[in-house]
Amino acid sequence: MADRYLNFTGTAPGRFLARRLGLPQPSPLRRWTPESPSLEGELLHLTAGESPHGADLRRILTRTNLTLATESSHPAAVVLDATGISDTPGLAQVHAALHPVVRSVAENGRVVVLGAPVSPSDHHQAAAQQALEGFVRSLGKELGRGRTATLVRMRSAEAAESTLRFLLSPRSAYVSGQVIEIGDAQAAPCDWDRPLSGRTALVTGAARGIGEAVAEVLARDGAHVVVLDVPSAQGDLVRVADRLGGTALPLDITADDAGERMASALAPDGLDILVHNAGITRDRKLANMPADRWNPVLDVNLTSVLRTTDALLKSGTLNRGGSVVATASIAGIAGNVGQTNYAASKAGIIGLVRALAPGAYAEHGVTVNAVAPGFIETKMTAAVPLFIREAGRRMNSLAQGGLPVDVAETTAWLAASASGGVNGQVIRVCGQSLLGS
Ligand code: NAD
Repeated sequence: MADRYLNFTGTAPGRFLARRLGLPQPSPLRRWTPESPSLEGELLHLTAGESPHGADLRRILTRTNLTLATESSHPAAVVLDATGISDTPGLAQVHAALHPVVRSVAENGRVVVLGAPVSPSDHHQAAAQQALEGFVRSLGKELGRGRTATLVRMRSAEAAESTLRFLLSPRSAYVSGQVIEIGDAQAAPCDWDRPLSGRTALVTGAARGIGEAVAEVLARDGAHVVVLDVPSAQGDLVRVADRLGGTALPLDITADDAGERMASALAPDGLDILVHNAGITRDRKLANMPADRWNPVLDVNLTSVLRTTDALLKSGTLNRGGSVVATASIAGIAGNVGQTNYAASKAGIIGLVRALAPGAYAEHGVTVNAVAPGFIETKMTAAVPLFIREAGRRMNSLAQGGLPVDVAETTAWLAASASGGVNGQVIRVCGQSLLGS
């Protein structure tokens, strides 16, 4: 369903009216296209405090398509390295660095603040580094004009490269107000134009909607995609597989032996990327919700994810250097009227990801992360009543809904072996939704 308000405010009278009436003024987001795959312009690299990463970071930022600058009157992006801030007086330098430039950041531009891991034993360092979180989340709400703000907590510039490339590109258009922690895993070598080249990806629920977009972006980035959906969606599934040069796997993920059937379909080469995207809703307030609306939602959205992941790890189908990306939802963080079942299932995904990630990485060399979409323009949200739909679209810092491709781009970043330092994270793709923030 088209966002008519976004189109209207893109016209001169629409802009005038929205300004006069104090209504939201969304900017059309700039997304990846083959003709225009990068942000263009200057990347302003600023430092607050004494950074331990200066030279390494400069080298990595030089490798982006942006032109590195230490001064710029109209930067496409600003990276503020605040990793060296270890006490609260140091925060004055964050203000001093960004206050003069924030107004000049280009439309659809990026502000990325780099922080250090929060120390569990130094409360002065912890106060200063945690302060950056409130700072970035507030800045994301202030920036407007399609601009985003993100905090990346890193231990080494090298391990952060794939994340910085993602954030400093149009691929992250609908990701704002997030805090991303990067561990110190060895960064895998990467062909940045086709980061998933030679890898096999399984995407569940891929006959349509977000899953179809995920399969498309993973294939664009070089992966062979195995697309899975219920047997009744086989026609659409085969069309998706044919279009992407992939393989269709009609299968209900709630089947007891679904994991084993996935494993045998993927033998002998195994699987590198597992995307748990299939999901259903059966909304009703708890007081009116019979068990036959509760159980299927928990079964499809959570129990099947657990069962099939366990089976694929146990059978050794998931190759070392691989990744699992599961789909949560901001409903699992904020809760939602009529969605006790759905929100429980999506919160369960977050629990699963956080608990499984360290062990899966140590034992199998596999990362486990989640994407948590906000309001995404799909058939699912087109069916939402008009007033609630409009509220969902506007109640975020970018004042618009996301597109399936936004979730897909985030999934592709998490799935790349170069993102091995990102593990156990839940990344919201929600335009910094006010819900659950
Ligand atoms: P959708 O309904 O368009 O697509 C879901 C797909 O999953 C369908 O093709 C369906 O056939 C498949 N599926 C359902 N049950 C299955 C089963 N048992 N086995 C195999 N496949 C099955 O939904 P969507 O909007 O594309 O959502 C995709 C995911 O994103 C879901 O997990 C959803 O909960 C989540 N999500 C969506 C939004 C949104 O705004 N659309 C927001 C937050 C989270």
